[in-house]
Amino acid sequence: MNSKQFKAYGTEAADAPLKQLNIKRREATLKDVEIDILYCGVCHSDLHFARNDWGMTQYPVVPGHEIVGRVSQVGAGVDKYKVGDLVAVGCLVDSCRTCNNCKNDLEQYCPEWVGTYGGYDKHLDTNTHGGYSESIVVDEEFVLSVPENLDHAGIAPVLCAGITTWSPLRHWNVGKDSKVAVVGLGGLGHMAIKLAHALGAHVTLFSRSTNKIEDAKTLGANEVIISTNAAQMENAMGRFDLIIDTVPYTHDLNPYVATLNTNGTLVVVGYLGPLDPMLVTVPMIMGRKSVAGSLIGGIAETQELLDFCGKHNITSDVEVINIQDINQAYERMLKSDVHYRFVIDMKSLKG
Ligand code: NAP
Ligand code: ZN
Ligand code: ZN
Repeated sequence: MNSKQFKAYGTEAADAPLKQLNIKRREATLKDVEIDILYCGVCHSDLHFARNDWGMTQYPVVPGHEIVGRVSQVGAGVDKYKVGDLVAVGCLVDSCRTCNNCKNDLEQYCPEWVGTYGGYDKHLDTNTHGGYSESIVVDEEFVLSVPENLDHAGIAPVLCAGITTWSPLRHWNVGKDSKVAVVGLGGLGHMAIKLAHALGAHVTLFSRSTNKIEDAKTLGANEVIISTNAAQMENAMGRFDLIIDTVPYTHDLNPYVATLNTNGTLVVVGYLGPLDPMLVTVPMIMGRKSVAGSLIGGIAETQELLDFCGKHNITSDVEVINIQDINQAYERMLKSDVHYRFVIDMKSLKG
């Protein structure tokens, strides 16, 4: 297969900083769209993956799955997009397209889904490489259309932080009578607040950080509970229909389960791994409460969200950085010092 070389940023080891490297992309085939990347959001998953937190990373890794750009070339069989269109790519670039999940617009749960980075690129027999790069080539079925009225940098985080919180909000039918809580005010958390508020829900933020209270209210939260304050947690018992937990590291879920209403659900979207301390089932059984998980969203649902954002003029609150600042941005993300998503201006890579 013919390929082209592009500049990218990535790392060759878990303990090495990200640096400039060259990657290959296939030449656009029949159904492919080649995209000139304008902006790419920085997700905490990029950091987990670059540092092999989940024990599955193959190096080199080029992170980035919140990609916005313009179509620069299309294959002869592409009918959804043309050169110059404003488009996006999220966390998925392929799936089997035939299993029940694929047929039901749940490609993210396809056993053969291909991640935008760290997946298997069957065309070049190598790892897929993400959006910290000049360009990407993706099958048109996994390319999304971006409403032109939205800020191009601000829309990028919708492709992961947005859809990861939108999917559970939609699955659990959040609307104007819902009481929703969000745990953690970072990239996912701030999109969860904006989207739940736009759906008409009463929104509460659980945060450890007392300095984020005013921001949370500006984003659309009705109230903020400081999770380290025992009296405030006690007051919140039995109140929420849905809690979206975005915390990236292991933490005690039991105090949050206690704040669920009867039939309420706590959806873990942040932490991947065994819980410590363990989950106590008594309050779940006594109140028919659920603890669930959720992974990003399917292609149709992501397009639904982009269209919703276009209609309601919703974008992410971003801090635009140059690619050369990525290692510093990772350090700030580890300190929860993000307001509320870093987005890379890819002009800085092109020089
Ligand atoms: P982020 O911007 O770093 O935000 C995480 C927030 O969680 C922080 O701002 C902080 O909020 C809180 N937090 C951080 N460390 C904590 C700790 N040790 N204990 C309690 N709270 C803590 O991260 P993100 O990009 O939103 O991603 C969040 C997680 O979701 C990551 O693990 C990421 O890999 C995962 N993720 C999952 C999916 C999915 O499909 N399920 C998709 C994307 C990302 P406060 O300061 O307000 O406490
Ligand atoms: Zn992500
Ligand atoms: Zn499938």
